[in-house]
Amino acid sequence: MIDGRTRLVGVMGWPVAHSLSPAMHNAAFEALGLNWCYVPLPVHPDHVGRALVGLRALGFVGANVTIPHKQVVIPHLAHMTPAAQAIAAVNTLWFDPMGDLCGDNTDAAGFLESLREADVDPAGMTALILGAGGAARAVAYALGMAHVRRVLLHNRTRERALSLVQDIRSYFTDIQYELLTAEELRQVAHAADLIINCTSVGMWPQVDACPWPEDLAFSPRAVAVDLIYRPRKTRFLARAEASGATIINGVGMLVHQGAAAFRLWTDMEPPVDVMRRALLEALGETESSGDDSE
Ligand code: NAP
Repeated sequence: MIDGRTRLVGVMGWPVAHSLSPAMHNAAFEALGLNWCYVPLPVHPDHVGRALVGLRALGFVGANVTIPHKQVVIPHLAHMTPAAQAIAAVNTLWFDPMGDLCGDNTDAAGFLESLREADVDPAGMTALILGAGGAARAVAYALGMAHVRRVLLHNRTRERALSLVQDIRSYFTDIQYELLTAEELRQVAHAADLIINCTSVGMWPQVDACPWPEDLAFSPRAVAVDLIYRPRKTRFLARAEASGATIINGVGMLVHQGAAAFRLWTDMEPPVDVMRRALLEALGETESSGDDSE
């Protein structure tokens, strides 16, 4: 029941109409009996600064930030967590007791929690990251925090991968980073314990696309992770599974990045199972209606 005491959070993006986060967070508020509401906030790129002033003026507790505003909000923040600074992108905002706007990036924590759920500990592993966008940055930071030994990175646009490695290696000086060409990827792929697709290749509706070379097999001892959650089993994961590899999709990361934001806003332990159920239900609905945008 929305009334004069309802506390507000939401997600700022452009577009946001099909975000799954309102379903996930509102289910959590309802399960805990909290008088909170999570709303979609479509914010045109020209209005980001004004929208942030508006959040404060309207008494929002905080908000998630999604594409294309994850970097643009940074100059407006008074404080950023070390994760947000290293990743150079923010997905969660809140106002501290002084009213200052703070930013975190909970994607990294969400990714690690999704591995932990599957009993995968990256410590000492060789990880292969495909992609070099915002999600790849969060994953590279997360792997550093989890004491991975070596990171191999391949991206279509090499300069973007180079910039990722240059930024992240200063935080983790004892990790070995190597940029791979497509040919080098074939040669060293067998050395990877953990292979993470951080590209959008294979996301609905391009479900037949796959970021892994067609003629390259997965090692059966590898763990293959796809950050994509629509569809839940991408062609990348299906091929890895067929080779005997362990597979993890992007649903866990999505749930746990949301759970981490929920903790920041409410200072309460989120009902993760409720959030996952709401998300899967919403995903099921959008998958069957053929709708792909988050
Ligand atoms: P982004 O910043 O736009 O980066 C996209 C990445 O995909 C880049 O590395 C890009 O390569 C690559 N790419 C796109 N089209 C390609 C193609 N045709 N061939 C080869 N590479 C291609 O996006 P992002 O925010 O990092 O998100 C990436 C994926 O992660 C999306 O599918 C997103 O839904 C998913 N994600 C999931 C979660 C979760 O919670 N599960 C969280 C964040 C993101 P170039 O650099 O060459 O363009």
